[in-house]
Amino acid sequence: MTIILQSVLTCPQCGHRKAETMPTDSCQFLYQCEQCQTVLRPAAGDCCVFCSYGSVPCPPKQAEHQGE
Ligand SMILES: [Zn+2]
Repeated sequence: MTIILQSVLTCPQCGHRKAETMPTDSCQFLYQCEQCQTVLRPAAGDCCVFCSYGSVPCPPKQAEHQGE
Protein backbone atom coordinates (compact mmCIF):
# COMPACT_ATOMS: atom_id res chain seq x y z
CA MET A 1 0.00 0.00 0.00
CA THR A 2 1.04 3.55 -0.54
CA ILE A 3 1.37 5.98 2.31
CA ILE A 4 1.70 9.64 1.41
CA LEU A 5 4.04 11.49 3.73
CA GLN A 6 3.66 14.97 2.30
CA SER A 7 0.64 16.98 3.39
CA VAL A 8 -0.19 20.60 2.71
CA LEU A 9 -1.41 22.27 5.87
CA THR A 10 -3.79 25.19 5.47
CA CYS A 11 -3.97 27.61 8.37
CA PRO A 12 -7.63 28.29 9.29
CA GLN A 13 -6.69 31.72 10.64
CA CYS A 14 -4.83 33.29 7.73
CA GLY A 15 -5.11 30.75 4.93
CA HIS A 16 -1.35 30.24 4.69
CA ARG A 17 -0.42 26.94 3.07
CA LYS A 18 2.72 24.96 3.74
CA ALA A 19 3.81 21.51 2.65
CA GLU A 20 5.02 19.46 5.59
CA THR A 21 6.39 15.98 5.91
CA MET A 22 4.44 13.87 8.37
CA PRO A 23 6.09 11.59 10.92
CA THR A 24 5.12 7.96 10.29
CA ASP A 25 5.41 6.77 13.86
CA SER A 26 3.58 9.48 15.74
CA CYS A 27 0.78 11.99 15.45
CA GLN A 28 1.58 15.68 15.41
CA PHE A 29 -0.79 17.35 17.81
CA LEU A 30 0.44 20.92 17.60
CA TYR A 31 1.50 22.98 14.62
CA GLN A 32 2.48 26.62 14.56
CA CYS A 33 1.66 28.60 11.45
CA GLU A 34 4.82 30.30 10.26
CA GLN A 35 2.88 33.26 8.94
CA CYS A 36 0.50 34.28 11.74
CA GLN A 37 2.13 32.27 14.57
CA THR A 38 -1.18 30.70 15.53
CA VAL A 39 -0.74 27.33 17.19
CA LEU A 40 -3.15 24.91 15.57
CA ARG A 41 -4.68 21.97 17.40
CA PRO A 42 -6.72 19.14 15.90
CA ALA A 43 -10.48 19.58 15.65
CA ALA A 44 -12.63 17.43 17.92
CA GLY A 45 -12.44 13.82 16.83
CA ASP A 46 -9.25 14.24 14.84
CA CYS A 47 -5.99 12.70 16.06
CA CYS A 48 -3.58 15.25 14.65
CA VAL A 49 -3.30 18.56 12.82
CA PHE A 50 -2.82 16.82 9.47
CA CYS A 51 -6.24 15.17 9.77
CA SER A 52 -7.85 18.53 10.53
CA TYR A 53 -5.95 20.95 8.32
CA GLY A 54 -3.87 18.91 5.93
CA SER A 55 -4.56 17.95 2.33
CA VAL A 56 -3.78 14.35 3.28
CA PRO A 57 -4.67 12.60 6.56
CA CYS A 58 -1.87 11.25 8.75
CA PRO A 59 -0.10 7.95 7.92
CA PRO A 60 -1.91 5.87 10.61
CA LYS A 61 -5.27 7.04 9.21
CA GLN A 62 -4.22 6.27 5.65
CA ALA A 63 -3.19 2.75 6.69
CA GLU A 64 -6.55 2.33 8.45
CA HIS A 65 -8.53 3.22 5.35
CA GLN A 66 -6.45 1.11 3.01
CA GLY A 67 -6.90 -1.88 5.28
CA GLU A 68 -10.67 -1.86 4.81
ZN1 LIG B 1 -1.72 31.29 9.86
